Amino acid sequence: MTDLAQAVPALLDWYAAGARILPWRELPTPYRVWVSEIMLQQTRVEAVLPYFRRFMEALPTVEALAAVEEDRLLKLWEGLGYYSRARNLQKAAKCIVEQHGGKLPDTVEALLKLPGIGPYTAGAVASIAYGRRAAAVDGNVLRVMTRLTADFRDIGDPKTKRDIAALVEELMPEESAGMFTQALMELGAMVCIPNGAPKCEVCPMEGVCLARQRDIALSLPVKSPKKPRRIENRRVYVFVHEGKVALEQRKEKGLLSGLWQLPNVLEGEKEATDWGMRPLDVVELQPSKHIFTHIEWRMTNYLVAVEAPCPDFLWLTPTKITAQYALPSAFKKAWTEAVKRIEG
Ligand code: SF4
Repeated sequence: MTDLAQAVPALLDWYAAGARILPWRELPTPYRVWVSEIMLQQTRVEAVLPYFRRFMEALPTVEALAAVEEDRLLKLWEGLGYYSRARNLQKAAKCIVEQHGGKLPDTVEALLKLPGIGPYTAGAVASIAYGRRAAAVDGNVLRVMTRLTADFRDIGDPKTKRDIAALVEELMPEESAGMFTQALMELGAMVCIPNGAPKCEVCPMEGVCLARQRDIALSLPVKSPKKPRRIENRRVYVFVHEGKVALEQRKEKGLLSGLWQLPNVLEGEKEATDWGMRPLDVVELQPSKHIFTHIEWRMTNYLVAVEAPCPDFLWLTPTKITAQYALPSAFKKAWTEAVKRIEG
């Protein structure tokens, strides 16, 4: 048995003794594990908690998720961002109801066939909810494993990831697969942390960790630099006519696909008059910025009172928009300021 394998019981004991109590851990049904893992992608645990509780109250079953109206679903997701994740959840829920009798599949292979489920989520559901020996390798686990083994390969390389997944599966005890998966995640989140020095002195793996022995933890993991984000300068318009504001729907494909948004254009592309509307009053609002994965929007925001509404848009009162539409957070700043001005 390798040193690492010998240290696994200590890791499990540490997890059992001190893991954070989280709602999806208390009742780890496949549905709850799945939804929590999708919410946790790119979002911190503390931020996810209120969303998770609200979501489970509103949609407690796969069937409820499959049947909910899309606008209501997006409203429940509002604030978590990455709306395509919510849409994929629903697509997958429909498949689960239609093809699996409402029960999430219990193998990685079958889970991978569902929309929005990649190797990480499939591994998490299969191991945590079904006790299968399936690795769930995310950034936390990559960091812990590369440090434990002093692995200096690029973690962006799929081969490195595959090898680490294979090692995790080898170490995963048959009878406590789910606990092992969660223990590794917990170790990465609480002890072998990403920013700043890891807390090796309280780590259950300290005795077998090569990075600790060689004092190189801060040099790991190795990640090749990302491509710089593309910067887009955009003009965002809050068009208002008789107390109603214009919303438009984005295209079905690409960034923020299908969401309702404030009309906006690339700098220099289009003005109010290009939509056939005559501006009566134009107020420049505070500028704002929003960072997506590959693009950064730098926005100049305008509140524009128009003489007549353009029929291409949906015109609604701010109250109705706030209550029923999930405006992407990129527009939050402009929206908040504009509503204050319209209602003030
Ligand atoms: Fe991470 Fe330190 Fe534990 Fe090694 S000993 S796994 S570097 S916290």
